[in-house]
Amino acid sequence: MCVVREVFERVASKYDLMNDVMTAGIHRLWKDQFAAHTHPVNGAKVLDVAGGTGDIAFRLISNANKRAVYDYSVTVLDINEKMLEVGKQRATQRGLTRGLSWVVGNAEQLSFPDNTFDVYTVAFGIRNCTHIDKVLSEAYRVLKPGGKFLCLELSPGAFQDAPFLKSFYDKYSFEIVPILGQLFAADRQSYQYLVESIRRFPDQKKFSEMITNAKFERVCHENLFNGVAAIHFAWKP
Ligand code: SAM
Repeated sequence: MCVVREVFERVASKYDLMNDVMTAGIHRLWKDQFAAHTHPVNGAKVLDVAGGTGDIAFRLISNANKRAVYDYSVTVLDINEKMLEVGKQRATQRGLTRGLSWVVGNAEQLSFPDNTFDVYTVAFGIRNCTHIDKVLSEAYRVLKPGGKFLCLELSPGAFQDAPFLKSFYDKYSFEIVPILGQLFAADRQSYQYLVESIRRFPDQKKFSEMITNAKFERVCHENLFNGVAAIHFAWKP
């Protein structure tokens, strides 16, 4: 089994708790902000890639329900069945099953036909994929012309213009997060892997170039919390 699958297999049951512990709940605000960038309309089909336990999908469906948009579908795709199982249970508990479907699959090789979706979302997932260029070209392929690509991801190089905060952030992510992983999930190694994957991910400028190279247009991004994370936007022409 590949490292990423093993890591998420191990963290699945504690994943939601750990997100809150590691980010002091801030990930919820970022996800709200991210989800607000999709404007639900009747008939729209969304693909949420690396959707894990459904955090983004639940927000999208709730936003659609609030606007009385009921002919709206979100397909949650993830490589890890255990994460999806946790997501399905949460969906049932929250009464948020209408319009939701769950698919095991690899972001690098999607099983959907060309031009299927109106919106493609991926949150905190693309940095775990081995071939980011393949993920982007698959995103482009399955989006309809005019479709929107949205990616929320943690970025390296946060607090570049604030050295004191940068050293605190580096210490927190490299030293404290693995300890929290040990304390709350009895799994230091997985959380070490997850923070290291942030450092390996391209910065906002480089990632924007990769999105452009995948043929997307109107590529732009919005930094969150001094560049700790960013929302990337692009459209398929
Ligand atoms: N999007 C969710 C959220 O924001 O809470 C889950 C994010 S979680 C950090 C990353 C997810 O990416 C995991 O559920 C993992 O199984 C999934 N993943 C990793 N590599 C993948 C791939 N190649 N294809 C699909 N999913 C993948």
